Amino acid sequence: MTATTPGLASPAPAPETPPGRPPQRVVVVGGGPGGYEAALVARRSGADVTLVERQGLGGAAVLTDVVPSKTLIATAEWMTIADRASELGIRTVGLPTDTPVRGHEVDLGKVNARVVELAAAQSADIRTRLETEGVRVVEGTGRLDGPERVVTEAGDSFDADVVLLATGATPRVLPEAMPDGERILTWTQLYTLTELPERLVVVGSGVTGAEFAGAYNALGADVVLVSSRDRVLPGEDADAAQVIEDVFTSRGMTVMSRSRAAGAVRTADGVAVTLADGRVVEGSHCLIAVGAIPSTEGLGLDEAGVRLTENRYIEVDKVSRTSARGVYAAGDCTGVLPLASVAAMQGRIAMAHALGDAVQPLDLTEVAANIFTAPEIATVGRSQTWLEENAVRFVASTLPLRRNPRAKMLGIRDGFVKVFAHAATGIVLGGVVVAPRAGELIFPLTLAVNHRLTVDQVADSFTVYPSLSGSIAEVARVLHARQA
Ligand SMILES: Cc1cc2nc3c(=O)[nH]c(=O)nc-3n(C[C@H](O)[C@H](O)[C@H](O)COP(=O)(O)OP(=O)(O)OC[C@H]3O[C@@H](n4cnc5c(N)ncnc54)[C@H](O)[C@@H]3O)c2cc1C
Repeated sequence: MTATTPGLASPAPAPETPPGRPPQRVVVVGGGPGGYEAALVARRSGADVTLVERQGLGGAAVLTDVVPSKTLIATAEWMTIADRASELGIRTVGLPTDTPVRGHEVDLGKVNARVVELAAAQSADIRTRLETEGVRVVEGTGRLDGPERVVTEAGDSFDADVVLLATGATPRVLPEAMPDGERILTWTQLYTLTELPERLVVVGSGVTGAEFAGAYNALGADVVLVSSRDRVLPGEDADAAQVIEDVFTSRGMTVMSRSRAAGAVRTADGVAVTLADGRVVEGSHCLIAVGAIPSTEGLGLDEAGVRLTENRYIEVDKVSRTSARGVYAAGDCTGVLPLASVAAMQGRIAMAHALGDAVQPLDLTEVAANIFTAPEIATVGRSQTWLEENAVRFVASTLPLRRNPRAKMLGIRDGFVKVFAHAATGIVLGGVVVAPRAGELIFPLTLAVNHRLTVDQVADSFTVYPSLSGSIAEVARVLHARQA
């Protein structure tokens, strides 16, 4: 998404269309990262580009999901760091050094005002960038009228040589726990809160549930995390998820595993969440974070010959083609991997393919992902589960961060670096970093995975002393010895 952040890159003039050839007409439906990045790429390839968006540019990523949540988490991160203050010799003025520094309190109204403002500013920046580049931005709800035309509710009609559908997804709601926007909330409704919930019940312990549970706990709320599974973050690296669960409980969060929520209702002064086994969890507010459903209804897909999966996602191949010629799809509406970075990549690939540029098909093994808990969990390449299930001969090594000198200086105890390498060749196959700012630390491993570096090549590279990244080279050195 940085491509559209002003100040980082000045808008390049769109190239001239080659003489004698009319520009290709590209119509994009949806202005999130899947759509707006593609619109810019298409424009730079000389296409005539129209983008139809109904909510605001930047899409859910900018307005309700990535940008707001990570801005809120930025405040939570400061609160977490402040918790280590007394250990590092910092005291509150007038109190003895060993008094826990508890002088900080969050003004949630102010935090959320900043969140909303920042998101709106980024959305406005994206609009400016698109318009400067010559993309025709149309406000409204679009749908296909056959594979070669997009029409809007307002009656506009755009003929297209290429259509890109990037309509995203919306929070899944449970009929037995209907959000009211006040006490029972989806993640898009959290930013209207002006006061910290006294007791927040988070239903769902996937990435979104875990991120918000951790953030609100750090902001000072009493948090109950209701998980239907054995542990938080099912599907993630088991050791990493265990660290997060341990940190959550050590910070006073109540984690209820194997507890399926059956419904939630408002009470006189809060909410009551009923579990499938009949237990009731009371709280002041409830966040429902049980996944998302693709925005594919009413898009005219069947009539245009665009095939959907059983779960109503748009079926695409590795170059983002749908089953209808000339119609491409990108992002959360495809269900490929719900990340902004993947949506943007799918959109770029679609345009490169459609407009005759060099195309590199989507390769999910190269995706680096991050969970913004404290500590963060960053992953790249193959997971341990995948390697085991596919009987790959691999070696693995893990180093806990508490042995890292820089971590000791910073008062960091929780976290580790884990690397997987091929047992015979030593090529790095994947890695997991659990650490503060793991999302930044994963990059050397991303380079290693994407460029098929060996553990020796990683081990032989200099790292700063002392540094957290020193642990990455150290793990690689351990793996050198373990290779078969
Ligand atoms: C709480 C949360 C936090 C997240 N954090 C991260 C993160 O840190 N990093 C990360 O990589 N990913 C994150 N994600 C995932 C990320 O938000 C999505 O993967 C990303 O938004 C997908 O982009 P998209 O373009 O497919 O869809 P969206 O961003 O949802 O955009 C789709 C747009 O299409 C518009 N639209 C839909 N239908 C129509 C129509 N018929 N006509 C016109 N417009 C239409 C919508 O209004 C919307 O603006 C997070 C998700 C959530 C829920």
